[in-house]
Amino acid sequence: MNHTDLILSGASVVTANEQWDVFDTGAVVIRGENIVEVGPAHEIKKKYKNSLTIDCSGKTIIPGLINAHTHAPMTLLRGLADDRRLDVWLLGYMMPVEREFVTSEFCRIGTQLACAEMIRSGTTCFADMYYFEDDVAQAVADVGMRALCSQSVLKFPTPDAPSLEDGLLRARKFIEHWHGHSLILPSVGPHASYTSTREMLQACASLALEYDVPVHIHIAETAKEVEQSRSEHSMPVVPWVKKQNLFNAKVLAAHCVHLDSGEISTLQHYQVGIAHCPTSNLKLASGIAPVTEMLDVGLNVGIGTDGPASNNDLDMFEETRLAALLAKGATNDPTVVPARQAFAMATIMGARALHMSDITGSIEAGKRADLIILDLDVLHNTPTFQRDQDAIYSQIVYVSKASDVCDVMVNGAWLMQDRQLLTVDEEQLTASANDYALKIDAFLMEREQSLLSKLVAIGGMERQESFEIQAKARVTDAQKVIDVLQQNPFRIIRHVHYQQYDTYFLFGGSEDHQLRIREDDLIDAEGKVENVRYRLTLLGPAKEKEFAGSILLSRSRYLAPSPHTLRFYREYFVPEEEREVEKDRLRWQVSFRGVELYVNLDRLDSPDLGTFVEVKSRTWSQRDAEDKAQLISEVLSIFGANPEDVITEDYSDFV
Ligand SMILES: [Zn+2]
Repeated sequence: MNHTDLILSGASVVTANEQWDVFDTGAVVIRGENIVEVGPAHEIKKKYKNSLTIDCSGKTIIPGLINAHTHAPMTLLRGLADDRRLDVWLLGYMMPVEREFVTSEFCRIGTQLACAEMIRSGTTCFADMYYFEDDVAQAVADVGMRALCSQSVLKFPTPDAPSLEDGLLRARKFIEHWHGHSLILPSVGPHASYTSTREMLQACASLALEYDVPVHIHIAETAKEVEQSRSEHSMPVVPWVKKQNLFNAKVLAAHCVHLDSGEISTLQHYQVGIAHCPTSNLKLASGIAPVTEMLDVGLNVGIGTDGPASNNDLDMFEETRLAALLAKGATNDPTVVPARQAFAMATIMGARALHMSDITGSIEAGKRADLIILDLDVLHNTPTFQRDQDAIYSQIVYVSKASDVCDVMVNGAWLMQDRQLLTVDEEQLTASANDYALKIDAFLMEREQSLLSKLVAIGGMERQESFEIQAKARVTDAQKVIDVLQQNPFRIIRHVHYQQYDTYFLFGGSEDHQLRIREDDLIDAEGKVENVRYRLTLLGPAKEKEFAGSILLSRSRYLAPSPHTLRFYREYFVPEEEREVEKDRLRWQVSFRGVELYVNLDRLDSPDLGTFVEVKSRTWSQRDAEDKAQLISEVLSIFGANPEDVITEDYSDFV
């Protein structure tokens, strides 16, 4: 007995302990940070006479919910770019905005906002993975929540680390700093297999082992990720990360949507914790995780909301309900993931997945006092049946809402009482978050105004100013051009053969820019495709000047490698019109009377427009342009083209 003990008495206490004890009129005794006893209220009352007792009659006490995977600061990006495919969402919006805005302050404010929302919806502990995790952890500790905080490490530059080595060093310092904290369990977060190198995963595993902390990683979220792993490493994701010794550490793996049964047994063998994120997987159409199979082999499957940019909230009541329903729908079996199991996933099993079940996840003597008080005596939870003791779980999982959470305690301290947040200034927080929204909106609106800035946002641009003198003409006898080029005064320097598939994106309005996405198939002497190259070119408006039938074109071009699919660019740029040109191009670099020229013999296959010969040369002065214009008309007439057949437009202009 100790008069500093606090007793929560008279509530129905759902413990989530081994025996699934529920005390209908129960009590929880809390001393400092810890739970010291749980049991029937009348027994506790006899034992603890002089303690401070709070009457919780009519309420229900359950373990605080555990959000097994999120990116808390991303609350500030909530609803920014919805209803897009994963690549457009991530590469077109999230990453550019993150590069511009994610700072220590952003992460602090975003995390506070996330914590406020999580407390209101009954979450006491969560697993986070983001940048500036030091600021995330500080915000969590200041608010008084519990978290597994993972410092992200990626193989390319991030908002908080210019290189992979800096990222690893940052993770090490982060873990050293927070190691042993009462609320924060620090960890390292190699983002995913496809954003990691072998050495990076090995370094993360040994860092985690050195400090005995978990590794938090996204695994097999999309089918594309698995495909990529198979083509790059000749194996799916799980065996590849296993090969890098990752599973020697305690691992929390988010998503696990696309796994085969061998991979599931590997995860089970290494006791990997799973964070199932049903809303995010559905919203981004990543697929449905094989939750039933994972539970059947004994894996600890927790439930996560994922970041609020892909959910868009942090409500574990919604998430838990969805996890139970989705498993039934996916297996065509209403008996799978029953309410009690879903409840376990949101509490004790989630704690196990985070490797934190020694301190949280259930209401048991010896664990920290992380619990929430619900009001189930509400209209939407009426009536209630007593016949089946498990009915309480179905009330909680299928009916209860975040708004039913009245009080929240973490580590023995109240964070919310009577629905009033005690450690967060909601008004100030809302104002700061709205300020960020204004700034991000302005940034994106400015970017949307220019094709160039939209291109720059996805990276890899290179400016090229080109001054060319050129002319093209329709030819009826292509062979004649080929034959002529073999003779004096032409000297062939280089010759290549391409099959080119061009897609032009045209945009209305004042902007006279075009985007060309070109697939260049290099054809070898046997007519087979030797090599395929993709390039993206932003063509500025051409400034033209005519010279004796030739055209001087000066235009700025921006070139970029084009690593994404045509579909990605279409969804990202939303062109007003598209034109396709498919052509067979024979290209010669020749010397003609000491002047270097490029000759393209283009057979337009689609649309079927016949064959054109195009002669080009780089130029640098008015005088030089005049001389070359003369030369080009001469060359065209040698090829048999009439001066009246000369065309000055681009193919995209007349198809
Ligand atoms: Zn995630």
